[in-house]
Amino acid sequence: MQVITDLHIHSKYSRACSKQITIPNLEKWARIKGVDLLGTGDFTHPLWFKHLKETLTEKNGILRTKNSFPFILQTEVSLIYSQGGKTRKVHFVLLSPDFETAEKITEYFKRYGRVDYDGRPIFGIKSYDMVRELKAIDDLIEIIPAHVWTPWFGLFGSKSGFDSVEECFKDQSKHIYALETGLSSDPEMNWMLSSLDKYQLVSSSDSHSFWPWRMGREATVFDLNSDFSYKDIIDAIRNKKVLKTVEVDPAYGKYHYTGHRKCNIVMEPEKALENNNICPVCNQLLTVGVMERVKELADREKPLKPEGASDFIRLIPLSEIISTVLKTSINSKTVWAIYNKMIEEFGNEYNILLKADKEKLSEVVDSRIAETIIQIRQGNLKVKPGFDGVYGVPLITGNEEYNIFDVPKKEITDKRERQKGLGDFS
Ligand SMILES: [Zn+2]
Ligand SMILES: [Zn+2]
Repeated sequence: MQVITDLHIHSKYSRACSKQITIPNLEKWARIKGVDLLGTGDFTHPLWFKHLKETLTEKNGILRTKNSFPFILQTEVSLIYSQGGKTRKVHFVLLSPDFETAEKITEYFKRYGRVDYDGRPIFGIKSYDMVRELKAIDDLIEIIPAHVWTPWFGLFGSKSGFDSVEECFKDQSKHIYALETGLSSDPEMNWMLSSLDKYQLVSSSDSHSFWPWRMGREATVFDLNSDFSYKDIIDAIRNKKVLKTVEVDPAYGKYHYTGHRKCNIVMEPEKALENNNICPVCNQLLTVGVMERVKELADREKPLKPEGASDFIRLIPLSEIISTVLKTSINSKTVWAIYNKMIEEFGNEYNILLKADKEKLSEVVDSRIAETIIQIRQGNLKVKPGFDGVYGVPLITGNEEYNIFDVPKKEITDKRERQKGLGDFS
């Protein structure tokens, strides 16, 4: 059976995250979204770990709530260190096979710093040392470089990343099986680099809340038996057996194009290179986006789908579709009323986005919303690219000029948070 998973989320104990994130709320909203399996987020945090142990029962590495909703142990860590004369900043998603191993992982990190001040703690450990030391604890620990292309904290990020997996991990590269593409890149962009052909590309939301326009906005879909175990998931990741990934249009991501948010400057890669990545307003270096960075490292002219690579689909969250069509804010009563009515009718959001037929959709909602859902499913969405921390804007026929992001968003992180590594960087 198809299992839609979101294996990178955060708890209420991570910086800039909703304080309402609890296991019962995550389960509730995962069911509404149509996500079948969630990462727990933040298992290194002592209070969150206590909450996990109180609310979940483990069997074969799968943690279930009392209503049998499944989670797997997941956390994210931020490594900041110096290598080759440069400061490096890399985020990792870690998966643990059971509670006992998770406790050992946390004990390991406590040798290098505190784990109780943030659900995504920072350590000065080199990536290759962390991989070697975690693998010595248990080979079943999965280590996945997170949102690999984002300028800050991505493995290949333009600001503090590396030019290759091998440059980062050296002889420990052999333990890396998967790369998280992040919101601002999709598999096609990664297929521009032949050196990445061997990796399983995965997608997840890196969500900082349980709202359905965040949780599950990207996902990894597995083909598993109904009594799947942690090992089945790891086996699929390590042997490239993932069925497909769900992606937002990469232009929707906050770091797709190169630009400066404060100067309101955005450029496609060619234009930015012509300007030597210098901002024409403030004369400072622009934030080089994911698209430009991919082009810089690519060894192919065009994407080439590697043998055995997973398929992918591009979607955007239903709340985003409704709010864009109706020209109103995503968290408004109008959007929620329509959203709830549709969930009641079709069961969950993924059913609506992936399966519901147009006729039936038009009976339930405004035909423009029904039409937009079908258009997106067929891959016909255009998006004005995001840049330097600003989300991209879906352009829906008839609404091209409407910018839903004119509504100020608290979640857009400020520069100070970004430098310290505290915000949302997917
Ligand atoms: Zn991250
Ligand atoms: Zn500027």
